[in-house]
Amino acid sequence: MNIHEYQGKQILKSFGVRIQEGIVADTPEQAVEAAKKLKEDYNSDWVVIKAQIHAGGRGKGGGVKLAKNLEEVKQRATDIIGMQLITPQTGPQGKLVSKVLVAQDVYYPGESETKEFYVSVLLNRSTGKNIIMYSTEGGMDIEEVAEHTPHLIFKEEIDPKVGLQAFQTRKIAFNLGLSGAAFKDMTKFIAALYKAYDATDSSMFEINPVLKTSDDKILAVDAKVNLDDNALFRHPEFAAMRDTSEEDPTEVEASASNLNYVKLDGNVGCMVNGAGLAMATMDIIKIAGGEPANFLDVGGTANATTVKAAFQIILKDPKVEAILINIFGGIVRCDRVAQGVIDAYTEMGNISVPIIVRLQGTNAVEAKKLIDESGLKVFSAILLKEAADLVSEVLA
Ligand code: GDP
Ligand code: MN
Repeated sequence: MNIHEYQGKQILKSFGVRIQEGIVADTPEQAVEAAKKLKEDYNSDWVVIKAQIHAGGRGKGGGVKLAKNLEEVKQRATDIIGMQLITPQTGPQGKLVSKVLVAQDVYYPGESETKEFYVSVLLNRSTGKNIIMYSTEGGMDIEEVAEHTPHLIFKEEIDPKVGLQAFQTRKIAFNLGLSGAAFKDMTKFIAALYKAYDATDSSMFEINPVLKTSDDKILAVDAKVNLDDNALFRHPEFAAMRDTSEEDPTEVEASASNLNYVKLDGNVGCMVNGAGLAMATMDIIKIAGGEPANFLDVGGTANATTVKAAFQIILKDPKVEAILINIFGGIVRCDRVAQGVIDAYTEMGNISVPIIVRLQGTNAVEAKKLIDESGLKVFSAILLKEAADLVSEVLA
């Protein structure tokens, strides 16, 4: 689950990571109030107005603007709230901005230069270890740095059983070229950041930029956080951070019906029970000359209600020319699934694409009979080969 910058920063702060302080606002008026409060609490004369969307590169797209007085706060907030923000990560249609973070300006002049770094913590699945990636080249596209100057990106592996060691935080601060107070503050920053990542069961914490201020403090200016969906049950406190308006609407609908759905680009929709069978089914579709339009695992209970919800979701995709239902009746009986398919089909009344149903397992023969006798435009198969041939036939 992705969350907004302002939410990621709240989590960071609760673990003792210093952040660029800010207040979230839904309207230009609230933005002005937020700016006044930031002046009171942190004595920040200038503020930045930052669009809150689930995508990076907002600065480049015009979604991060400096405001030097309250009129400018109101003007910038008016410009940004309601805009369709296009960044290198949103795709050409952009994303609608409904909230801004009004944040203290932390690039103020002072004794020493400000400096932007890149730091992220993520999971290296192939080694089963956590990894801190960091670079002196922060603020801009880290992808660009990775491509053209990969030697400027450092990696530190952390064994989750042992945890982050003090020598590692010192090594990171050293490699970032810091000394004195900034060096010390960076070691604290890294330790707190790692703790936040670890304790929240996150898959990623990316802070770009991490800023060294002109008075040698280290703080998080941005926060891109991905919480592990499979661990959310351990963190009820994060449930309210979900913003479904940022997610693919069909995938939101699917998860509300307990369906595991991922949209793909092909022409054959599929409805399967079990992720392994779903993958095998996608292979069959390809062998039959089609391309899967989606991955859809209906899980253990393939009854009329789930089948209907699955039909509705698959048919939202205009590219779908046929649907292959491939269900193994182990716990669930095939004849009950068949009845579910017939009921959902009849109830929806407007299905115009051919449906191929392959049911194997308990009562497979009875199930095939039910479908063949239903009089609907549904083709049944028991063997996988028969199902694949039917897919080729309806696509031809
Ligand atoms: P992103 O573009 O979506 O990654 O958003 P960021 O939060 O990283 O902000 C983009 C850029 O805005 C940063 O790299 C900074 O250069 C600039 N920026 C952010 N906060 C401030 C601030 O407090 N003052 C000034 N002057 N610039 C800022
Ligand atoms: Mn950033």
